[in-house]
Amino acid sequence: MPDRSFLNWPFFEDRHRKLAERLDAWCAKNLPVDHRDVDAACRDLVSMLGRNGWLKPTALDPANPGPLDVRTLCITRETLARHDGLADFAFAMQGLGTGAISLFGTPDQQRWLEKTRAGEAISAFALSEPRSGSDVANMEMTAARDGNDYVLSGEKTWISNGGIADLYVVFARTGEAPGAKGISAFIVPAGTKDLGIAERLEVIAPHPLARLCFDNARVPASALIGKPGDGFRIAMSVLDVFRSTVGAAALGFARRALDESIKRVAERKLFGAPMAELQMVQGHIADMALDVDAAALLVYRAAWTKDTGAARVTREAAMAKLFATDKAQEVIDEAVQLHGGDGVRKGHIIESLYREIRALRIYEGASDVQKVVIARQVIGTA
Ligand SMILES: Cc1cc2nc3c(=O)[nH]c(=O)nc-3n(C[C@H](O)[C@H](O)[C@H](O)COP(=O)(O)OP(=O)(O)OC[C@H]3O[C@@H](n4cnc5c(N)ncnc54)[C@H](O)[C@@H]3O)c2cc1C
Repeated sequence: MPDRSFLNWPFFEDRHRKLAERLDAWCAKNLPVDHRDVDAACRDLVSMLGRNGWLKPTALDPANPGPLDVRTLCITRETLARHDGLADFAFAMQGLGTGAISLFGTPDQQRWLEKTRAGEAISAFALSEPRSGSDVANMEMTAARDGNDYVLSGEKTWISNGGIADLYVVFARTGEAPGAKGISAFIVPAGTKDLGIAERLEVIAPHPLARLCFDNARVPASALIGKPGDGFRIAMSVLDVFRSTVGAAALGFARRALDESIKRVAERKLFGAPMAELQMVQGHIADMALDVDAAALLVYRAAWTKDTGAARVTREAAMAKLFATDKAQEVIDEAVQLHGGDGVRKGHIIESLYREIRALRIYEGASDVQKVVIARQVIGTA
């Protein structure tokens, strides 16, 4: 029986424990889905998750506004990731894509959330550009005011859900000041004239991903989220909520790798006895279990700190993301080792975890960037 004792930790309330149990049972019945056509699989997953009510925590409820519950987001991501990486992706993007609208949108803009929470609209978060990924403050895409409109011009790349999204939250330079203080955020519906999909991008763990091009695409001034020049602060506030959840997804992948490895070493016989009796194998399992528990402590500490009223959790979220994603990579690598040839066989669960984990150490701030964030917080130069 997989270890779920972490759910007894004081970070959680009973509603979180019940959610983990109900979602796990639902996942066991409904996941994984067929990934061969990732666009179709993602559309189906969003619709399935929405119909069953699992997407509700991804965004504020316009009828009953309240803060996002980061522990719920983390438990959901961890559980989905343990069963199906693409299901976690579909869930996560509904939150990241609409985070700016939940946190800073007007009531009119928040009407989009009725659809995204129900799985009737797919959302995307468009921040990165070909020449500014880590260095977001140097983005080049512009949004120029023209009468009652803004005119968007430039490119965004690595945009998850690019090509299948119904709405994009797009960050562009409006020029109130140089650098970070001259960026604004906009809601751009798919189908906006002069917004095009320049290229679909393929990665080692396939999911919908694209480079977008804006060729003087026009949106009304009412598409602006917050005030002109607030875009960088909005993007960082969204990442402050969702960064710990990337750690939670990594934790889900790592737990699955550990659970599969425990089964493997109990069942497989080597040299006349179960592998589990070899002390070096026990050493691998101990390292994996330690990393999983330590990552869980950091992830749920960050989530609890945010939920219990901290205005910002920059340090906690960066630590959770950095540690959980880096350690999940190591845990999964050890699982490959314990599975021998099966660990690298195409289609094997361990092989797919090995591919799934890698990008989590790059997006929403690469591991090196998290170290810079932590150091600045600790030294006091942030
Ligand atoms: C699968 C996937 C999905 C993504 N989805 C989205 C999305 O939905 N929306 C979106 O806007 N973006 C998305 N991204 C983009 C992602 O956020 C960027 O790839 C990431 O921020 C890194 O930017 P870059 O690729 O331009 O690499 P670069 O910025 O060129 O960085 C390359 C490497 O340099 C190192 N580095 C960078 N800065 C520092 C520093 N300060 N100190 C030390 N080392 C440093 C790091 O090792 C980093 O990995 C996605 C990326 C991937 C791979």
